[in-house]
Amino acid sequence: MNYQSIINRDVKSHPVEAGVRTRLLRPTYILLACTALVLTAMLWGMNPEPAEATRHVSLSLDVPVPAASPAEVVTPGTPDNNHIDPIKDLNKLASPAAGANGSEGDWHKVTVKSGDSLAGIFSRLGIPPRQLHDLLEQGGAAGNLKRIYPGQTLRLMTSDDTGLIKLSYQIDKLSILEISRDGKDYDISTTHLTPEHRKISTSGVIDSSLFVAAHKAGLSDNLTMKLAGIFAWDVDFALDIRKGDQFTVLYEEQYLDGENIGRGDILAAEFVNHGKRYRAIRYTDAGGKTDYYSLDGKSMRKTFLRTPVEFSRISSRFSLGRKHPILNRIRAHKGVDYAASHGTPIKATGNGKIVHRGKKGGYGNTIVIQHGSTYSTLYAHMSKYRKGLKTGSKVKQGQTIGYIGSSGLATGPHLHYEFRVNGAHRDPLKVKLPGADPLNKEYMDDFHAKAESLMAQIELIRDIQLASNN
Ligand SMILES: [Zn+2]
Repeated sequence: MNYQSIINRDVKSHPVEAGVRTRLLRPTYILLACTALVLTAMLWGMNPEPAEATRHVSLSLDVPVPAASPAEVVTPGTPDNNHIDPIKDLNKLASPAAGANGSEGDWHKVTVKSGDSLAGIFSRLGIPPRQLHDLLEQGGAAGNLKRIYPGQTLRLMTSDDTGLIKLSYQIDKLSILEISRDGKDYDISTTHLTPEHRKISTSGVIDSSLFVAAHKAGLSDNLTMKLAGIFAWDVDFALDIRKGDQFTVLYEEQYLDGENIGRGDILAAEFVNHGKRYRAIRYTDAGGKTDYYSLDGKSMRKTFLRTPVEFSRISSRFSLGRKHPILNRIRAHKGVDYAASHGTPIKATGNGKIVHRGKKGGYGNTIVIQHGSTYSTLYAHMSKYRKGLKTGSKVKQGQTIGYIGSSGLATGPHLHYEFRVNGAHRDPLKVKLPGADPLNKEYMDDFHAKAESLMAQIELIRDIQLASNN
């Protein structure tokens, strides 16, 4: 499955129809695209019903919203009056009065065909190859011209005498590249369109899988992935989803001239898993930092303790080749050993769920904890487990899970600790731990005010949904 193609599809497959000119393209779009990719990968293989997941993940985001369409909430003051008709806009560019060289050339509109190249297009218009070379040498935004694809439109002003005068190219739905040439000088700029933001809320109850329920509720795959990503630390979407779990989402979608361009963010969300309610608020502080926070201002992204044993010394580090003290042969040591006296408590380094508790070959008594969908930690050679813990038990960060021992292949009492990211071993002492700082205190009042208003909307829509279900 090529996720990139799915994610790109909604960004690139339509020419832009309309927009407003602004100077800034928010870099968050790029970030979001990356996040979406990661989340798709995360969700992949986690869905309890893979057949359904396949079907839904591969759906184009252009699929019309199903009948149970989400309720539209009034969008506060995003008037349309700044809109500029892009056709008129381009005509402005095309008008002879535009630019110093405006009267000297003719405009050509070129639709990129399969097999077309920029060189081919330039050549057909009689532009000297030297100018194409010089243009691409400019780097920066001009580099977008190396990635043209069929269906896109280029507008070029040329003249028989001088070749290229101006070029305008729709990079994606929200940006237009504009170039004008004066001798060897190229003036290159990118115009960014500002979409209209519409607030929408929806709610759903899970029957078979999150994807199916979210789709029914009118959430795009993109937003569904974002929803799962927000709660990934608290809810194991692979194993923990139950029939009857609920979600309520207040989100924003972006429109250009009435067309949904498939971008948007979740503003607030609630997920009820197994009767336990999790809530998240998107907040951008005055310093420009955006994250999802729980109602008490803690980041939804949890972090890990670096060390699972308080009173210990590191007796062996992570390495990909060392002589095993008992097996007496070179073997990778894919964890860190903490030597401590027999019976010293071992702590879970993060919130999670025990997915293994029992003997595990040379590891002896071992616990493996799954943290969200990406991370897992392993604790080996325990003398005993903490009472009451079994496979499936939830553990909290810092909670004692067992005690130092030398069960399995161990020369003396120590904890062998492993840290895995998507199943791959990482050095627990060096791995970049995820997680985020809580909201800065100075923003707390503002956050609470906003969170309260967003949560009131979430509760309203959830209650309406539940009432209509009953
Ligand atoms: Zn070890």
